[in-house]
Amino acid sequence: MAIYIDKPKCIGCKMCIPACPYGAIDMVDDKAEFNENCTSCGACAYACPTGAIVLEMAGKGEVDTSEYEGLWVVGEINDGRMAMVTAELIGEGRRLAEKRDTDVSCVLMGHEIGHLADRAAGYGADRVFLVDHPALKRYRTQPFTDVLTGLINRNKPEIVLIGATSMGRDLASRVAARIKAGLTADCTELSINDETGLLEQTRPAFGGNVMATILCEFTRPQMATVRPKVMKPLEFDDSREAEVIEVPVEINEKSIATKILEVVKDESGSDVNLTEADIIVSGGRGLGDPKHFALIEELADTIGGAVGASRATVDAGWIPATHQVGQTGKTVHPKLYIACGISGAVQHLAGMSSSDVIVAINKDPDAPIFNVAHYGIVGDLFEVVPAMIEAIKQRRGDTA
Ligand SMILES: Cc1cc2nc3c(=O)[nH]c(=O)nc-3n(C[C@H](O)[C@H](O)[C@H](O)COP(=O)(O)OP(=O)(O)OC[C@H]3O[C@@H](n4cnc5c(N)ncnc54)[C@H](O)[C@@H]3O)c2cc1C
Repeated sequence: MAIYIDKPKCIGCKMCIPACPYGAIDMVDDKAEFNENCTSCGACAYACPTGAIVLEMAGKGEVDTSEYEGLWVVGEINDGRMAMVTAELIGEGRRLAEKRDTDVSCVLMGHEIGHLADRAAGYGADRVFLVDHPALKRYRTQPFTDVLTGLINRNKPEIVLIGATSMGRDLASRVAARIKAGLTADCTELSINDETGLLEQTRPAFGGNVMATILCEFTRPQMATVRPKVMKPLEFDDSREAEVIEVPVEINEKSIATKILEVVKDESGSDVNLTEADIIVSGGRGLGDPKHFALIEELADTIGGAVGASRATVDAGWIPATHQVGQTGKTVHPKLYIACGISGAVQHLAGMSSSDVIVAINKDPDAPIFNVAHYGIVGDLFEVVPAMIEAIKQRRGDTA
């Protein structure tokens, strides 16, 4: 990828200067000129009103793949804390990097995040790129894209992994488009091909009916977003150390098209964070009526769990899609998963079968959910669930 200035077209408007996060543009004789800080991130090209800044992309087969080395994980930070998916990807990254005989770096972008370098190191990162700037306090597409694109262009990692979260899906696709790299979204499995060394990126395809393994042969880096809770993090070890590289950036707030005026937490319950929950109580079509989700909520409340659901209930409009567990819903890995009136279709199992302990309540003794359940209760959920709630309350001393 190359970037150059078509001098006759440059009108000296200076719009490119605040757009550049790396302070890489000077004015010489009233025309823009790049200095040695330029990373070819392309932010200036998007800001230039006359098309004087031109980004030239390599065509198919023109990328020298041998120039790219190392595995990167792009960290996600929420309210000053590193998201668990980042630790999961660092753990998976270590396994893949070993096969490529390379190391694992973690990119952390945010504000006042220096303390998180130790977290990334403790979970297994060898190197941390720390980009700390007030404009990066909360995720916004434009500055994060500009900064990450520049870092990738400058350092040329071979593989870049990002969590398939709202932030990760947004950022990965923008960066991949900017650098013309291949991106496989929503992976559930990653491996390195023994012969070619290419990253094998596996994800559900055709509506979840087949698992497709995708390769990016011609472009670099090979980019993938990975679902939270699919990969296992390493045990945190605070004796691990990482090389910390502080990356200076100059981000001009005025050049960012979006401003965050206020952060409003969704208290409606539709913002359930199933992927982080330790206990999930899920309801299926066996509930018979949307109003019976109240029973699921009561059991979940009693044991401090979140409410999940099968797709049948979501499709029927009984509960918002944010609650759906499964292949086209969320992948969860709680300590305890209680399935109430769920048959256990393969697409549902795809999202919850790796839960530590599964309890299934179903009146059909042949329901496939019992094949994955550690504890199965054959019975009517309208009798079993209230009895469970009562027993738990009694044992805890909530009731006399
Ligand atoms: C491409 C694709 C993707 C899909 N993705 C997902 C996904 O992400 N998640 C998902 O869940 N599904 C998904 N599905 C749908 C899936 O195939 C099933 O249709 C769905 O999971 C069934 O939901 P259910 O178990 O609630 O309903 P049902 O299959 O109708 O099962 C209801 C169960 O409740 C039991 N029951 C009834 N009454 C009672 C009672 N009173 N007490 C106890 N038990 C009772 C019945 O015995 C039955 O086993 C997908 C399908 C396709 C084709």
